[in-house]
Amino acid sequence: MLTLKKEYRELAPSERVLLGPGPSGVDPRVLRAMSTPLLGHLDPEFLEIMNETGELLRYVFQTSNTLTLAMSGTGSAGMDTILSNLLEPGDKAIIAVCGVFGERMVDIALRNGAEVKVIQGEWGRIVEPEAVEAAFREVPQAKLLAVVHAETSTGVLQPLTDLAAVAHRYGALLVVDCVTSLGGAPVLIDEWGVDAAYSGTQKCLSCPPGLAPVTLNDKARAVLHRRKSKVPSWYLDLTMIERYWGQERFYHHTAPISMVYALREALRIIAEEGLEARWARHELNARAFLAGCEAIGLKPFAQEGHRLPSLITLRIPEGIDDVAVRQFLLREYKIEIGGGLGPVKGQIWRVGLMGYNSNRLNVTLALTALAEALKAQGYQASAAAALEAADKVYTGQE
Ligand SMILES: *Cc1c(COP(=O)(O)O)cnc(C)c1O
Repeated sequence: MLTLKKEYRELAPSERVLLGPGPSGVDPRVLRAMSTPLLGHLDPEFLEIMNETGELLRYVFQTSNTLTLAMSGTGSAGMDTILSNLLEPGDKAIIAVCGVFGERMVDIALRNGAEVKVIQGEWGRIVEPEAVEAAFREVPQAKLLAVVHAETSTGVLQPLTDLAAVAHRYGALLVVDCVTSLGGAPVLIDEWGVDAAYSGTQKCLSCPPGLAPVTLNDKARAVLHRRKSKVPSWYLDLTMIERYWGQERFYHHTAPISMVYALREALRIIAEEGLEARWARHELNARAFLAGCEAIGLKPFAQEGHRLPSLITLRIPEGIDDVAVRQFLLREYKIEIGGGLGPVKGQIWRVGLMGYNSNRLNVTLALTALAEALKAQGYQASAAAALEAADKVYTGQE
């Protein structure tokens, strides 16, 4: 008989302001939705909740794609779903890599037996259409082009329309990762010509991690249905899952009921605010935050003109201890921000102003806390100067 050596206390997590790269803060309405009683996953009432979730997802993705649903799993499950359903061994794929998530796409495509042509971009910059064109000239038979819309490791927002035009000229699908843009910046699936996309719930949708919204248009769906081999992952096989989310209600796996409740509520909140108002809110708060940062000498890392409103990357000033600052923020202000990944580890901070958390209160708090954290290391930084610069943005003086 194995016995327990300690007593396990009831959960009582400390208060946190989640201003990192995700998870983001969650509206109390979403948490309440999660604690409502379960329905059976084939209960007619639950099926209607799934339908409504699909309708709300189509609104947020700005698409009329029938095949729009939420995969069970986090954002990476969405990535795995799209790539493993659209690629077969021997297929050629072109993938733009300007950060961690582009690299992850390459890993997944390779695991699915695809031959990958990598467009190696620069961290902190977008990939240019010319580079994509050059890749297609080299691999004109490529089945798809995959890019990250909002690269959370660098804070860059990638324009998509030019890339869609190039991919379509070569008869390839455009696959997009919009994990950190959906609900925080414009994502216009149909208008931009995106053929397949995936996202996650814990970034700008402000829902706990656990579901991965995906959408595929008829062209992508036709590619899926023309597969010569079965999708290698049983769990992520869209040919079966679309029958569960669709009319047929074919049993595949038990939907994570409480997560679907949560997502539906998070999407309902977005619909109430309106997408355009939500994008404008993210844009304003990001602009105010960055103005405040610049007033205390913190420079943006991401390429000008292509900065993500939901995740702001800052260069760590010379002589400042990355970890000490983040520990100070957490200890003194209960604020979580992110550090750099891979080649920019120790060089940048990543501050998320996502969904529920993108507001003036958090901008004010984060600027004050950052200025204090820098001061604690002997760096000249005045919280007052940062707040004044942010206020100018809020009052329309800048
Ligand atoms: C967070 C993120 C993912 C992965 O999502 P998980 O929920 O962590 O699995 C994928 N792509 C981008 C751009 C992300 O920011």
